[in-house]
Amino acid sequence: MTAEAKKRAPKKLSKREINEVLRILEEEHGGSKTALNYQSPFQLLVATMLAAQSTDKRVNMITPKLFQDYPDAASMSRLSEEELQEYIKTVGLYKAKAKHILQTSKILAAQYDGDIPATREALMQLPGVGRKTANVVLSIAKRVPAIAVDTHVFRVSNRIGLARADNVLETEKQLMQNIPREKWSNAHHWLIWHGRKICRARNPLCDQCPVAHLCLYRRQNG
Ligand code: SF4
Repeated sequence: MTAEAKKRAPKKLSKREINEVLRILEEEHGGSKTALNYQSPFQLLVATMLAAQSTDKRVNMITPKLFQDYPDAASMSRLSEEELQEYIKTVGLYKAKAKHILQTSKILAAQYDGDIPATREALMQLPGVGRKTANVVLSIAKRVPAIAVDTHVFRVSNRIGLARADNVLETEKQLMQNIPREKWSNAHHWLIWHGRKICRARNPLCDQCPVAHLCLYRRQNG
């Protein structure tokens, strides 16, 4: 692309273009859900905490045994840190995660009857639960509309132009403005799967991308 053409490329997507991107992503990735395996909101919370700085695939390798032996907050809260570390030692930051999961399990068992809180604020009070984790479990387990911005959602939405921000909080804010509320939770999954399959961090497969004609990154970089 010439410098002149690059200058002419739009800086943001129109409402119509955003809706078209969402329509195509839904067509491509509709029905997609989290890759994490879980049987209850508590297990989803633990799996999501474990997935930070790790991969869903690795987490899915350790949770079957962990959840079989300790399926709920009450049973998990009775583990020692060392015992839990033994189960999760193949994921990054496992010592800190073991500590947080045990503290969180104790709180959930004592105050929430083993369930998880239904608001972001209450979830973020739990040890080791940040905004992204809270949004993931809220939208999946509690069906509360939320957009969790992980590394894929951040990269893909800013490349396409669904957001134009240099941090996750601002990206989340803009996505909430640009995407209809009823699509927030699903759009989170569409963007993750688009990032995994097509819009990879290194060498995005722009030539195979169904939203390439709308994507600002593509239009600005040729
Ligand atoms: S065109 Fe390229 S940069 Fe844009 S969304 Fe598709 S793969 Fe990502």
